[in-house]
Amino acid sequence: MDMLIGGKHISGEDLSEVKNPYNNEVIDTIPIAHRQTADLAITEANNAKESLQEMSAFKVSNKLFNVVEKLKDNREDFAHLLTLEVGKPINESLVELDRSIETLKLAAEEAKRIYGESVPLDAGLNGKGFFAFTQRLPLGVVAAITPFNYPLNLTIHKIAPAIACKNTVIIKPPTEAPLTVMKFAELLNEEFPDGVINTVTGYGSEVGDYLVTSNQVNKISFTGSVTTGLMISQKAGMKKVTLELGGNDPMVVLADANLDKAVKGVINGAFLNAGQVCMGVKRIIIENEVADEFGQKLVTETEKLVMGDPLDAKTTLGTLISEKAAMQVEETVNNAVNEGAEILTGGVREGAFYHATVIDNVSMDMDLVANETFGPVAPIIRVGDVEEAIKVANGTEYGLQAGVFTSDYANAMKCAQEIEAGTVFINKQSTFRTDNMPFGGFKNSGVGKEGIKYAVGEMTKTKLIGLNLR
Ligand code: NAP
Repeated sequence: MDMLIGGKHISGEDLSEVKNPYNNEVIDTIPIAHRQTADLAITEANNAKESLQEMSAFKVSNKLFNVVEKLKDNREDFAHLLTLEVGKPINESLVELDRSIETLKLAAEEAKRIYGESVPLDAGLNGKGFFAFTQRLPLGVVAAITPFNYPLNLTIHKIAPAIACKNTVIIKPPTEAPLTVMKFAELLNEEFPDGVINTVTGYGSEVGDYLVTSNQVNKISFTGSVTTGLMISQKAGMKKVTLELGGNDPMVVLADANLDKAVKGVINGAFLNAGQVCMGVKRIIIENEVADEFGQKLVTETEKLVMGDPLDAKTTLGTLISEKAAMQVEETVNNAVNEGAEILTGGVREGAFYHATVIDNVSMDMDLVANETFGPVAPIIRVGDVEEAIKVANGTEYGLQAGVFTSDYANAMKCAQEIEAGTVFINKQSTFRTDNMPFGGFKNSGVGKEGIKYAVGEMTKTKLIGLNLR
């Protein structure tokens, strides 16, 4: 598939194959572009700013609603492509499509609500006699750099609010799974002037880096790993940056919890998208007295998952993004076992598949939980009481989301207040997000918030206009 730059399809001499991780078949190729091509996209995006900014909010909103309809019309085709390139079960791809449609719709609505406020300057010393108000203005060019795991919805979380507040956009999609996003860019380009939406494929370390360091790009909106995020924050200079990074989300299960509900939370939270979810349940922190019973229930439910062809509607556990990624998970689990952890079920790799794995007697010094493990693994860490549970939950550089299961309101509130995370859910696993909520982590899990209204705040600049009426 070609890149889209300034409304033109651009190919390249160097190509990279996009492979289906399930059967290793080549789905398509993409150009591996270099700095000159990224530079061309930056020029085109800058040239297109005026055409977008002179449009009324009414028109921008209507155009985004038109794209909503186009995406709805192509829902099944997009989901099929998503499953081919990511290896996620088709039913999960359809959910990603539904969420993408919803996210886009929220942005189309928000495009009509971008305004400032009147400011009472007379509340400050010498401010009497002024009439003052603020405006929310576009930043200019927004570069969206996105990961492989939810490529479509996570990209729409950036480009839809960016366009809603009249920024032009350059997308750098993930090299392993770029196709769904590139196809979506074509839909947007049918509605908006050439250059408003551009795609540049190629390695993050080259074209991504060029976008990050360019002073002709006004904002970097990045979702991906902490390692890349830290690098971007050091190189971006004075431009605005939003970083949505990795997670190591805890699920705290106290002795008085509804264990069946908590088990259901793990099945969804640890194994969704083969565990490749930033806000996935990555550590189950459970009070000793219920740990055995919980482990047995979890094993029973885990063994009901159906691993197979991701295009088969019966499949509930697909592949990881690549065999290499599955091998990394295998090695991390094996190391934990060598250090004393005990596999209750799973622990087997087949090509790019890794069986859904429940592993008990895990401790926080094991790499499996000290760092983010991006695979279908549910590690159980046993603790003595709620104080210890909170201490373990906070014993990580990450702070994206958290879930707490208990029937005691006092303990629920204690956990909610003391766990360091951007979101704490009570009686729900961390792996839950509605696309309008403020989403973004504490500590090394990121900087800034997404969720359409909040993303708009991060993609505009505020100007104050004061009229001296004296
Ligand atoms: P990644 O390796 O950091 O890559 C993300 C994107 O950054 C890709 O497009 C990549 O391009 C690009 N990139 C790589 N090096 C770069 C550089 N030096 N400068 C600029 N861009 C660069 O992350 P991933 O493995 O795709 O995604 C998994 C991670 O994302 C996990 O840690 C997960 O928790 C996190 N994540 C966070 C959220 C959230 O909302 N907080 C959501 C989803 C995922 P290439 O593909 O060409 O390398």
